[in-house]
Amino acid sequence: MARPVRFNIKEKDTSNWGINMVEAPEGFTGEGFFTTSLDRVVGLARSKSLWPLPFATSCCGIEFMATMGSHYDLARFGSERVGFSPRQCDLLMVMGTIAKKMGPVVKQVYLQMAEPRWVMAVGACASSGGIFDTYSVLQGIDQVVPVDVYVPGCPPRPEAILDGFMKIQDLVHHESLRRRNSAKYTALLESYGIQ
Ligand code: SF4
Repeated sequence: MARPVRFNIKEKDTSNWGINMVEAPEGFTGEGFFTTSLDRVVGLARSKSLWPLPFATSCCGIEFMATMGSHYDLARFGSERVGFSPRQCDLLMVMGTIAKKMGPVVKQVYLQMAEPRWVMAVGACASSGGIFDTYSVLQGIDQVVPVDVYVPGCPPRPEAILDGFMKIQDLVHHESLRRRNSAKYTALLESYGIQ
């Protein structure tokens, strides 16, 4: 006998369905004024308006499609504008197995992105080559470009991708405006042969 439909319906808890406001950056509040630093305001704006460039080559890309879909909805994080033009994106998301032949292409895409730019390696293949410990597969995209956040899993579930995305937002929010001009950052890029 078929299971009655009413047993499959779970009541939703709607008590916390309000609209959450973004937290104000650190600063001083007084009567009629609020002060903070430029770093904090710019970091807040950047972190809530990241434009991802999905560089998807295989199965992890399917998880990204689910992440963009209505159930997980990356748009909630201010990132519904997924772009395939590196010059207008600031977050490179590499998802899938990257063959050594594709390495220079990933690097070229990275070079075409303007600063500030961030990189997320999504899944075991992009992070470390995954199960493909072979002559033809790049053993992690950090061999060609600097990576900010690694998302583990084969494939990572959309929740894990969202978690990695929030880690990137946290980095972006707290990054100093001067970091990109620092000697440490220049040395990091030079170690990848990037001027
Ligand atoms: S990590 Fe797993 S799911 Fe992702 S691209 Fe590699 S083999 Fe596919």
